[in-house]
Order: sequence, then C-alpha cells, then structure tokens
Amino acid sequence: MSRINVLDSFVFNRISAGEVVERPCSALKELIENAIDANAKTIKIDILDGGITSISVTDDGDGILKEDLKKALLPHATSKISSAEDLFSIKTLGFRGEALASIAAVSETIIISKEKESENGAKITAKGGVIGEAEDYPFNKGTKITVNSLFYNTPARFKFLKSKKGEEAEITNVVLRYILGNPEISFIYNVDNKTVYQSFGDGIESAMISVYGAKILDDTFYLSTEKNGIKLSGYIGKHYFTKPNRTYQSLFVNGRYVFNQTVSSAVSNAYGSYLMKRQYPFYVLNLSLPYEAVDVNVHPSKTEVRFSDNQIVYGSVYSVISKILDGSSEAVEIVKDSPVTKIQKSYEKPIETKIDY
Ligand code: ADP
Ligand code: MG
Repeated sequence: MSRINVLDSFVFNRISAGEVVERPCSALKELIENAIDANAKTIKIDILDGGITSISVTDDGDGILKEDLKKALLPHATSKISSAEDLFSIKTLGFRGEALASIAAVSETIIISKEKESENGAKITAKGGVIGEAEDYPFNKGTKITVNSLFYNTPARFKFLKSKKGEEAEITNVVLRYILGNPEISFIYNVDNKTVYQSFGDGIESAMISVYGAKILDDTFYLSTEKNGIKLSGYIGKHYFTKPNRTYQSLFVNGRYVFNQTVSSAVSNAYGSYLMKRQYPFYVLNLSLPYEAVDVNVHPSKTEVRFSDNQIVYGSVYSVISKILDGSSEAVEIVKDSPVTKIQKSYEKPIETKIDY
C-alpha cells in the first residue's frame, strides 16, 4: 500500500500559515500590502487586544469582484502574476497568492469589498479555512478585511504569542514602517479605538513628522542621490542621533519594507567610529534599483531580498553615508533640503478621513 499522501489544501494551508502568519503583525503586514497593491490612497488600520482579538484593514482601493471573493481566499490564487516569467521582475508587494488563504486557515476572516466598476458590494466569511459563499453587501468603496480570533484553532501557535501589549508593540513597529515607506498614502492607525498614528499622504517629510514628531527634521540629514542605476534617498541620523535598538532602522527596497544584511552593514560601517557601544544608526532609506536586480522570492514572509550584486549595493550605500558623515565635499551634492510637503504641514491639518467606516 502506498505510504505517501498528497496533503489536501486544508492541511497545507495550515502548514504555510505557519510561515506567512507568524504573529498578528505578520497578518497585518499582508493586509496592508494588499491594500497598497490595490492602489489605495487611504488605509485605516484597527486592532483590538494587540491584534489577537481583531485586526481590520479598510482601504479605498480597486476592490475585489464578488465572483473573485472566494478565489481570493484560496491558496496560490493571485491577480498579480500569471506566469513563471513574471517572477523575474515583480512590481507588486504580493505575488505568492497565499497570504489570505493562510490567514483564513487560522482565524475568522471577513472580506467586504466593492470592486471599482461594480454596482454593488459583496461579503464573504471564512473560518478555520472553511470558506462561505459570497453574498451582496452594501459597501461604498474599496475593501475591508477583518481578521478575528487569530490562531484560535492552532493552540501551539497561540501559546507563543506575547502579551497583548507585546503584540501591539510589534504591530506598531510594522505600521510605522508602512507610513514611512508610503508617504503618498494616508494612514490611520487605531489601537483599541484610539488613534495612535495618522499620516496625510502628502509627502515623506510629513510622514516623518507623523511618526517621529517635527524635531526629527533637525536630528537627521535628508539625502537623495543616484549612481550606477541605484537610487538612494531618505533620512539618516546626525552623528549624535543614535538609538539603543534597531526599531529606528527602516529600509525600503523598490518600495518594499525589508531587512537586508548588506545594507544594514553598509550603514553601520559607515557610521563606524561615530557609534558608541550598543548604539545603532537611525535611518529611513529608500533604495531603488532595477526590478531584475532584486530577488524578492526568498521567503514566504517576503521580508528579505537578495541583490544580484551585493558588492555594488554595499559600496553605493557605504560611500553615500560616509561622505555625508565625514563632511566630504561631495556631500553637498547628496544632502538636500527635506522635501517640503505637497499640500500642508501635517500637524496643521485637522484630523479627517476620506473613507467611510
Ligand atoms: P497576493 O497578494 O500574493 O496576490 P493574497 O492572498 O494576499 O495574495 O491575496 C489574494 C488576492 O486577493 C490578490 O491577488 C488580490 O487580487 C485580492 N486582494 C486581496 N486583498 C485585496 C485588497 N485589499 N484590495 C483588492 N484586492 C485584494
Ligand atoms: Mg498579498
């Protein structure tokens, strides 16, 4: 008798859920990335009890067709790529088509959406991987995805969660990265019904102020430069402005929030002797390079990237940051005035939101 079983989707979804959704912040990351891929201009995030009770992301993006709602929850179902060739130049944040399926396997997931050209909205619910039927549901614009009771059916994973406050802190660290990395999108982030961050989608300077307060502009250099097809822009801390941990380091590669050892070492080494023991540089850096020069398909969580040429990336980042910190004459070409916000300074704007919820 045959001994090898081909696992059904019920089982392999739970297995891949372990890789994609490690904790509430990883589920939230996937929901935010989906909203960004759907061209949202406004993203509202609500969490309850550190995301353990509920995580909800509402966007004003393109929406999902009623007939596609069920598919969106199936594994390997994506609207973003269609062939293996597409993997060589991925322009969207998602492409694996497994996030929603994984999340829905280990929670109660509710999607309400109105596709931009459809007349009506629709709703679908999945619980523990059992997907219901899509039904008509009134909704104005975009998509709202709610994830309740994460890991209710995976006690082993549930046991490894931190306290509510601990998970909340992890989520906040993720949210602030997306605010900084997507300054053209307005974000509202509510924790247990209280607004913690609000950004206005009017530029990087405004996003920096929303997250770190206005004084951050005095404590950082704004840089912008391009060489050998590699563009680097963003903020780095002045010599004295170092931090006791890495939560003040944000790197975006072609718009994707990632951790990358090459860039991290290049920045740290450039700071070199300016860093006291157990201090880390502050940075919010955007690195752009040709899509083909970056492999984003490294891990299901998509938080790592590989460069086709590490040395070029290391060299470019190291040389730009060193020139600024060492006050080289070339630094005047690199350090620029922080780009003034397009509309109005965020802290002068009243709190408002364009999506209804
Ligand atoms: P991926 O993002 O890798 O395609 P997901 O499982 O995250 O896979 O999502 C599956 C599909 O559901 C997406 O390809 C997209 O078509 C649709 N989708 C998910 N979230 C949204 C959203 N907020 N707005 C519009 N479409 C969405
Ligand atoms: Mg996705």
